[in-house]
Amino acid sequence: MLDVAIIGAGIAGLTAAWKIKSSMPHAKLAVFERSPRPGGKIHSFRHRGFLIEAGPDSFLTRKSAGVELCAELGIAGKLIARRPEYKRTSIKLDGTLHELPEGLSGLVPTDFQALEKSDLLSEAGKNRLAQEISLPVRESAGDESIADFCTRRFGAQAWAKLFEPLLGGIYAGDGSRLSMQAILPNLIDLEHRYGSVIAGLKQKSTATTSTPPPFVSFDTGLHVLVDALVQEIGSEHFYTRNAIADLIRTDDHFTILAQSGKRFDTRTVLLAIPAPNVAKLTSQLSPQLARMHRNITYSLSAVVVLGYSDASTLPSFNGYGYVIPRIEQSDILACSWASQKWPGRAKNGATLLRVFIRGDGNTDVRNAADDLLYERAHKELAATVGITSKPDCRFAFRWPAGIPQFTPGYLQKLGEIKTLCATIPGLYFAGAAYAGPGIPDCIRSGRTAAGEIVKALESNFG
Ligand SMILES: Cc1cc2nc3c(=O)[nH]c(=O)nc-3n(C[C@H](O)[C@H](O)[C@H](O)COP(=O)(O)OP(=O)(O)OC[C@H]3O[C@@H](n4cnc5c(N)ncnc54)[C@H](O)[C@@H]3O)c2cc1C
Repeated sequence: MLDVAIIGAGIAGLTAAWKIKSSMPHAKLAVFERSPRPGGKIHSFRHRGFLIEAGPDSFLTRKSAGVELCAELGIAGKLIARRPEYKRTSIKLDGTLHELPEGLSGLVPTDFQALEKSDLLSEAGKNRLAQEISLPVRESAGDESIADFCTRRFGAQAWAKLFEPLLGGIYAGDGSRLSMQAILPNLIDLEHRYGSVIAGLKQKSTATTSTPPPFVSFDTGLHVLVDALVQEIGSEHFYTRNAIADLIRTDDHFTILAQSGKRFDTRTVLLAIPAPNVAKLTSQLSPQLARMHRNITYSLSAVVVLGYSDASTLPSFNGYGYVIPRIEQSDILACSWASQKWPGRAKNGATLLRVFIRGDGNTDVRNAADDLLYERAHKELAATVGITSKPDCRFAFRWPAGIPQFTPGYLQKLGEIKTLCATIPGLYFAGAAYAGPGIPDCIRSGRTAAGEIVKALESNFG
């Protein structure tokens, strides 16, 4: 009989496993993972001198859980910031690249002089954005979509040409179907506390003395974090290549059925897997819980990675990359110069690019052959930056359950899931669907679930 079975060795499951192991070293703990390697969407590896990241390439420092975990694991010294010499991101409009104005605080422009110099918005668009400071505060406390909030506060043009592409690069989704309360509650808070988002951000920035880099990664890729967790947890706790097919409640415990036919009994189960997988596993246990999870939708996208050993054959590009707004009706979400963003991603004289393809465009990302995805990426790079050389290495990664889409009313749905879960003692959840898709969000949710599990086990053991 296991004390804790964690299903899913993504960053949420790994964080939870480590926290449980640290608090209860003698607990019988097993981590079940479908794939051959732990890490979930975090997947970095080396190939022909390039450091390839298949999914995420960094995480936010503003949400402290990521940096704190690195400090606890003793790997904070390996964190790196983006290369300042290429600090520049552009937005593609009508086939041309327009630099983002300086002085963005998160997504929001707060430096009007810099905004004035930028050619991203028309004069009317800039004036409308600047009026945000004096607009009335929304009275209704109900949720609204991110598109509605941004259009209301900053104007339709700023939404379509500035906020939408930046958010699209993160959520790969449709802003008119994403919840403001679940995703950007800090901006709602600023609207209410300061009467204006821009005014609130300006006041906060003057109160801050030091600013850490907004994003960090590791010298040798995000897998440093996964490796450190696996080492601390101990390989004996891992059951990789073990897809779990079903979960049954028997008297006072659960029986876990692996696809291989093996059975495991456990007092506690933590599901740290995407919502569609939770729906499959809980269909017998609680059809209602399964239905609620089935209704959580995810963005579908693909990442095409292209490595060029001799960058002198490429047209030069000064910056981290560019994003493409939905109004451009392109299948490409963003193109990122990984080797200009982060040190150590390619040898001297080489260039590593990542091209993000949206799943809700005209490309059938799920079923398309790799060659079609490469063709889409090459076509975009040739048209916008004139890259026509053949890459020396290329990979395509599809993410069918990439980012959970927190639609308006999502927090209420989560509350209902939590209430239902409380009626099944010993069942816990963690991961992107519950706390947000950012790596720090997933770490926080793994940590919270671990705290609850340890508390329950300690009280059971007396
Ligand atoms: C392309 C892309 C780029 C991203 N970029 C960033 C970024 O730069 N920064 C950032 O902060 N976030 C980013 N994200 C989001 C972030 O990577 C994820 O939200 C986060 O890693 C999810 O972690 P998780 O532990 O919840 O789940 P996952 O990483 O999805 O892990 C779940 C694990 O469960 C396993 N599993 C599923 N079903 C079963 C089963 N039945 N039995 C056993 N095992 C099972 C899976 O194989 C997987 O390993 C990105 C996401 C994508 C798709």
